[in-house]
Amino acid sequence: MAESRVVLHFPKDLLDQPVTSTAIRRYDLGFNILRADITQDQEGLMVLGLVGEPANIEGAIEWMREQGVRVQPLEQDVVRDDERCTDCGACIVVCPTGALAMDAATREVSFDAEQCVACGICVPVCPPRAMSISF
Ligand code: SF4
Ligand code: SF4
Repeated sequence: MAESRVVLHFPKDLLDQPVTSTAIRRYDLGFNILRADITQDQEGLMVLGLVGEPANIEGAIEWMREQGVRVQPLEQDVVRDDERCTDCGACIVVCPTGALAMDAATREVSFDAEQCVACGICVPVCPPRAMSISF
């Protein structure tokens, strides 16, 4: 079993279609909805954790792409600019998942994209704007 966190962008004409539920059923996957929104452009946005056999996850992603959904790995959309980060620690207290954490010995702040759920809370609290979300 594996988990893959992906960002799904649905064009307007797919908003009322059961694309995600069909993919999950067809490929025998579990899922966690981490975030769901309609963007300003009336595009549907969903951050999803897909759980299952790696080949099935790949199959579901491929099938959703064929239906017209844009699918990207979450790590491509939530990024920290390490050059900008000053290790101030302001983000650590707000991050709900521990994706941002300080090393007790070095006082360096690390970002673990695997634990990130793309909530976006860290973006406005980061003084040098090192954290960004591109959706
Ligand atoms: S987007 Fe949310 S979960 Fe991800 S690092 Fe920022 S605060 Fe943590
Ligand atoms: S708030 Fe920004 S600058 Fe401060 S530790 Fe977090 S990512 Fe780095």
